[in-house]
Amino acid sequence: MPQPGLRPGARHSPGPRKLRGMSSAIPLNVGIARSAGGVKTEADGGKRVLLAEPRGYCAGVDRAVETVEKALEKHGAPIYVRKEIVHNRHVVETLRERGVVFVDDTDEVPHGAVVVFSAHGVSPAVHEAAAARDLHTIDATCPLVTKVHQEAKRFARDDFDILLIGHEGHEEVEGTAGEAPDHVQLVDGPDAVDRVTVRDESKVIWLSQTTLSVDETMETVQRLRERFPSLQDPPSDDICYATQNRQVAVKAMAPECDLVIVVGSRNSSNSVRLVEVALGAGARAAHLVDYAREVDPAWLEGVRTVGITSGASVPDILVRGVLDMLAEYGFGEVQPVTTANETLVFALPRELRTARR
Ligand code: SF4
Repeated sequence: MPQPGLRPGARHSPGPRKLRGMSSAIPLNVGIARSAGGVKTEADGGKRVLLAEPRGYCAGVDRAVETVEKALEKHGAPIYVRKEIVHNRHVVETLRERGVVFVDDTDEVPHGAVVVFSAHGVSPAVHEAAAARDLHTIDATCPLVTKVHQEAKRFARDDFDILLIGHEGHEEVEGTAGEAPDHVQLVDGPDAVDRVTVRDESKVIWLSQTTLSVDETMETVQRLRERFPSLQDPPSDDICYATQNRQVAVKAMAPECDLVIVVGSRNSSNSVRLVEVALGAGARAAHLVDYAREVDPAWLEGVRTVGITSGASVPDILVRGVLDMLAEYGFGEVQPVTTANETLVFALPRELRTARR
């Protein structure tokens, strides 16, 4: 049975696509809805919470967590998962309690055992290593990560130099780069652009990790284009809909916030980016927490408006914990800030497909 709170059952849609030429402008459909009890304005001296929507689980995380749950049901514990299935402490700890063994690599998995590959994707070398150990693999790679893998393969086949914008050491980047190691160079932010070298300036394309800051990525692309004017764009946005939507929502509320609390783990790229985006959009302070107990009451001193959001790997039960904690400090008024509605669902890996909950 699913762990209460681990999967909210929410379904998501891609929402607006905004990467190409995306500005910091807030879309016109932003609304700060009034809660039933009426809004306490700053003029009233009232404390309030602005709650970003969308926030939390994306379609890829929902699918990955359900994949592990279904694998547990079908094969029984232990199930092995290479790396964290998604970058969230609560999700990982909950699944561990249910019999999931998280490993760093396939050589830690017993011969013939079941191993799930995480939402962040793996390189072909990892598939080969698993096959060499006769592992029963189940691939929970997010389809939007797989899309970037396909792009890397395609442009490598056409002998392009591929400039992959992303964070060094992130599992997703390692997986994508591993599709075409002879053609891919990692570009870890604007300051890395000067170190890039290419063979033929007329055959250069940029791709990216799915969970980056849209604005910082566009800055990196701009710098790359100054060096390589023929630089090609990816066929479609690589920064995924969920990352973009969560950044748009936090930008909408941040200018009104004395404090933004992002619920998410430190190794969650998209969660860390939400803190940066909040600060960049005008929040006076922003902090990342895994749990409500990590909120320091000192952060609330002199604060009237707190913004809350969460990364794409965060179950909403953790956000509710923060809301409950804030209510104890007088922040009982909660106003949603809605910038998109998400309904997208990804099918489970074929071998696990039955009726979804
Ligand atoms: S954040 Fe985006 S790419 Fe990552 S799992 Fe979610 S939908 Fe997929």
